[in-house]
Amino acid sequence: MFNNLSEKLDKALHVLKGHGSITEVNVAETLKEVRRALLDADVNFKIAKEFTVRVKEKALGQNVLTTLQPGQLMVKIVKDELTELMGGDAEGLNLSGAPSVILMSGLQGSGKTTFSGKLANFLKNKKTKKPLLVACDVYRPAAVDQLHVVGDQIGVEVYSDKGNTDPVAIAQAGIAHAKANGHNVVIIDTAGRLAVDEAMMTEISNIHKATQPQETLFVVDSMTGQDAVNTAKAFNDVLNFDGVILTKLDGDTRGGAAISIKSVVNKPIKFIGTGEKMEAIDVFYPSRMADRILGMGDVVSLVERAQEQYDEVEARKLQKKIAKNQFGFDDFLKQIQQIKKMGNMKDLIGMIPGAGKMMKDIDIDDDAFKGIEAIIHSMTPLERTNPSVINASRKKRIGKGSGTSVQEVNQLLKQFDQMGKMMKMMQGGKGKAMMQAMKG
Ligand code: GDP
Repeated sequence: MFNNLSEKLDKALHVLKGHGSITEVNVAETLKEVRRALLDADVNFKIAKEFTVRVKEKALGQNVLTTLQPGQLMVKIVKDELTELMGGDAEGLNLSGAPSVILMSGLQGSGKTTFSGKLANFLKNKKTKKPLLVACDVYRPAAVDQLHVVGDQIGVEVYSDKGNTDPVAIAQAGIAHAKANGHNVVIIDTAGRLAVDEAMMTEISNIHKATQPQETLFVVDSMTGQDAVNTAKAFNDVLNFDGVILTKLDGDTRGGAAISIKSVVNKPIKFIGTGEKMEAIDVFYPSRMADRILGMGDVVSLVERAQEQYDEVEARKLQKKIAKNQFGFDDFLKQIQQIKKMGNMKDLIGMIPGAGKMMKDIDIDDDAFKGIEAIIHSMTPLERTNPSVINASRKKRIGKGSGTSVQEVNQLLKQFDQMGKMMKMMQGGKGKAMMQAMKG
């Protein structure tokens, strides 16, 4: 995410590192580079200019008041200003209605349907919410099918009425269906066109008037840079929406949309989409995003993602298995699957402070586990629970079955064995400490 921008800002701020104090001259030099970095990231010209003016005023003003090094001071000011530019505090959803109605708007391909599913899943996982998805695209039957596929995947009901050509009527019927069936959130997915046009604006505006949503969200593809900002403006003029959803931030986005959109439409970014999977949704926190842009990582979000995947019952079971020396390849496979659910690998590593920069040239793809998974899938149940039975001929068979080599099978077995020893040691250590505590 935003690798290019991060790198350029880092370089710009580096200029100040050797200096004893901030002066008009070195601050001007630094900010020229900062501005160039923002423009390269497709940040609106006016916004980039105002940004650097504010940073300059703050830097020269605070210079004498602080014990921070000039480089550190500048990083702090840039971070604060970036946070402010992206919205200050995080803003949640208004879910006050009964049911609460959430209306999705945006161009075709922006990621509305995918995000509708992600949001439904996100709310469903909150336990107190029972969402209903409503398919209001009357032009593309495939879009309705797509929403059904998404609904099936996450176990959320989808209301649709194929053949009905009135999206307002479908939306209203959807809300009535929700009321009758105990759904407390209704997410309405609407039709989009490839570009802003009057017919689409009239249609979404009619749905908006008829359904009186608590939340009207504008979904936009962050890869479209300045266009994203212009489209946001057009939709906001008609809908006066409540929040922005930035999708595809996992791609090679330059970051301009994330940085500019708030100050152009004066509406908060509420969520971001970071992948095609249903789990790839994050609440947007301006300050965490600023940290990531400045290469400081985002440990808080990383821990939160891990917690979302953490299942206490499973964890206990696993602990028992480790204690009894029963941790097998099936358990290992489950662990890998959980890690994969946390999201795109490169993205996860980018959340570790400094790691993004360190590993920017290393190609980490999501297929990293493929070989390991294939090997485990080629093992028999007995081999998975009791790897010690895997002799030379079994290794040969597993290698062949998984499209890998005996060498790779050996390597995995060795790593697995070492992992088992380490786990036992950790358990042992804990056991000893407990004994000591009891004695004391
Ligand atoms: P809609 O026309 O607005 O409903 O857009 P879709 O939900 O059909 O999304 C269009 C394409 O973008 C699909 O191929 C999605 O899988 C993909 N997509 C949606 N959100 C994301 C995201 O956050 N990251 C990535 N990489 N792809 C996404």
